[in-house]
Amino acid sequence: MQTGFSLAQLADPDMATSEKILRACVHCGFCTATCPTYLLLGDELDSPRGRIYLIKNMLENGAPATPQVVKHIDRCLSCLSCMTTCPSGVHYMHLVDHARAHIERAYTRGFADRALRAALAAILPHPARFRWALAAAMLAKPLRPLIAALPVVGARLSAMIALAPRRFPARPAPAPIVAAPRARVALLEGCAQPVLAPSINLAARRVLARHGVEVAPTGRQGCCGALTHHMGREARALDFARANVDAWTAEIDQGLDAILITASGCGTTVKDYGHMLRADPAYAAKAARVSALAKDISEYLAGFDPLPSIRRTGQPIAYHSACSLQHGQKIVDAPKRLLRGAGFVTKDVPEGHICCGSAGVYNILQPELATRLRDRKLANIAKTRPMAIAAGNIGCITQLAIAASVPVTHTVELLDWASGGPLPEALRGTRFDADA
Ligand code: SF4
Ligand code: SF4
Repeated sequence: MQTGFSLAQLADPDMATSEKILRACVHCGFCTATCPTYLLLGDELDSPRGRIYLIKNMLENGAPATPQVVKHIDRCLSCLSCMTTCPSGVHYMHLVDHARAHIERAYTRGFADRALRAALAAILPHPARFRWALAAAMLAKPLRPLIAALPVVGARLSAMIALAPRRFPARPAPAPIVAAPRARVALLEGCAQPVLAPSINLAARRVLARHGVEVAPTGRQGCCGALTHHMGREARALDFARANVDAWTAEIDQGLDAILITASGCGTTVKDYGHMLRADPAYAAKAARVSALAKDISEYLAGFDPLPSIRRTGQPIAYHSACSLQHGQKIVDAPKRLLRGAGFVTKDVPEGHICCGSAGVYNILQPELATRLRDRKLANIAKTRPMAIAAGNIGCITQLAIAASVPVTHTVELLDWASGGPLPEALRGTRFDADA
């Protein structure tokens, strides 16, 4: 694609990166076939190719975005399915990230939209605040139909309340200490996941301990920055990234084999720290080192022989491949191999490359499209007749669990149970209990 940026514009490293990406696009349109929003809406401007044109014009003009551009960029899930499909290697992720940051700087949203985005950015990355917000959402559940009928904000508030669980999860038991470790890793605790499902990282710690892997105590790490990054709040996202880079650098200096992440949405962002901080002389090298060590938990565990299963596994499990794992990190087979190694029968979901509609806070900001994608995903999952659904991302787990007819759990929780850990909370009272 030809571009018309001025030399002054290209002096900005973000603009230079975007220009390179734009020039790689040959507007063949292959990507439209696998774009969830194009599939639902059939509008070229809601396809990757259409959005690339809109972004090109917006950035070239250097003017504030128009409401039309914002509408179509906001509808993008950042699922990255288009990157998997594109034969020309167009790095759509970096392009849309730049576009979102530009919109955030140069466009004034309506009051309700601004307020909701500000609240999400202020609450979600902080576990203590998020816990309070969840408690409020749980109390508001009976009022949901009334709240949904409110003008302007009703649908989004209702979507937020629907995502809240009915009760807080039980406090899990601590993981064992590894006496003579064969490897040492860091584990991202994250922000929303430890509140919604603290059992996931505990399960990961137990599985790692059984493999003889020690988890280093990196207490100062926090949110990976993905939630604010995807809302275009670049400065805040980079602050989160720098804090994590600092926390992990101290451990890397003492010897660290990997930085593990159990939420694939976060993993995709941590793997991108090197790019996000490339223009910061104080952090560029350290961030690149962190990104090089970052691994999804399934990617890391796939390097070990399977643990012996001591449960009666053999149940059919629909494996839901999170977009951030399959498109963002190109990890497709490792989680299924691990589940099969533990004795489960994995089922591939038809249309497995299409997003479930979770996508960070997309299911709150775009509830109508997110619900349509969720229902489409669950209908496809039902065709595999599973006893449970496994996924590697808390966003997908929360999104699917609202309306799934079978329990939804994290892949590592199933691996933990199979090798001697407790039954995942979502599976209690199901046939798994009897098979234990
Ligand atoms: S498939 Fe790639 S090259 Fe073709 S239009 Fe889409 S982004 Fe551009
Ligand atoms: S990231 Fe997903 S929703 Fe956005 S343009 Fe690409 S395929 Fe479509």
